[in-house]
Amino acid sequence: MEIYETVKILAIFILGISVGSFLNVVIYRMPRDMSVVYPPSTCPNCKNRIKWYDNIPIISYLLLKGKCRFCETKIGLKYPIVEFLTGVMAVATYLKFGFDLEFLFYFYFVCSMIALSFIDLEFKIIPDQINFAGLFVGLIFAVVKAIKSTSFEPVIDSVIGSLVGAGFLFGVAYLYLKYRGIEGLGMGDVKLLAFIGAYTGWFGALFTIFFGSLVGAILGVAFIKLSKKDFHYEIPFGPFLALAGTLYIFFGEFVKQIYFGG
Ligand SMILES: [Zn+2]
Repeated sequence: MEIYETVKILAIFILGISVGSFLNVVIYRMPRDMSVVYPPSTCPNCKNRIKWYDNIPIISYLLLKGKCRFCETKIGLKYPIVEFLTGVMAVATYLKFGFDLEFLFYFYFVCSMIALSFIDLEFKIIPDQINFAGLFVGLIFAVVKAIKSTSFEPVIDSVIGSLVGAGFLFGVAYLYLKYRGIEGLGMGDVKLLAFIGAYTGWFGALFTIFFGSLVGAILGVAFIKLSKKDFHYEIPFGPFLALAGTLYIFFGEFVKQIYFGG
């Protein structure tokens, strides 16, 4: 039994890093308006097609010592990091939710958060495709939960979660623009909250905004101080919202207990 479980976890980790490899393609291509399925991977520098044996998650990076086989251009450390992170999160999702339909929905959420965080860090945008697809999948998940529990509550909570999350953040963005005259929040963040709220419900949406803002503010100020950047330096908010939303997915029950007591 022990060995069976270990093999299962290893298999899920391998599944995770393979999905992570695909997320790298999404992270590279989606903000550049390229198709994520075609053509096959090429080196961004020399355009040589990457052979399958050079495209094995994490292992190929180590074997190639982080360089393209043909032109020796450096491959960013970001690639194995995304793969490893996705593998770890796949295992975490399995340990928390088991391996059934819930796993698919929650792993989809986690993968979206990883992809949009890395895109937002680099390009300061969150693609609509990720936000709208996520909102849609989140609502479908709520319908599945409603059918299972024979109650409309999950759907109502999901819809309200989207509206409260996006509405609240839109309000903040509006006030920020009105009183400071700068766009402190992008519409991408607002749409992201619709996505997260569809998964977490209204309480999770508010937790995501407050906790994401708190961590973002602390790390943001620390970053500006350490790097001596201008105070108007634009720090992407997406990764902090993604982190907070993911924490809520995993520890939401715990947060609710602390907040509401009992
Ligand atoms: Zn190359």
